[in-house]
Amino acid sequence: MGFIGLVRILILILALWLIYRFIFHRKPKQLQHDASKTNDPTMVKCQQCEMHLPREDAIADATGRWFCSADHRLEYEQTNPEE
Ligand SMILES: [Zn+2]
Repeated sequence: MGFIGLVRILILILALWLIYRFIFHRKPKQLQHDASKTNDPTMVKCQQCEMHLPREDAIADATGRWFCSADHRLEYEQTNPEE
């Protein structure tokens, strides 16, 4: 009975595939955390030259504007007098 033998092999393959898939499905998915690195909330934009830089490297003025350097903060204040 060649046909029955073939069916039994197919069932065996299917069973092995299901076991294999079940094992893989139980793996903890920890790779989802480092998904969005493109829009880092710690990046700020210099108001003068519009360059993006890490907030810890930036300089803020009294009104909460961010600048890449003290020079740009000064330039911005000179070109944009107090509102
Ligand atoms: Zn700048």
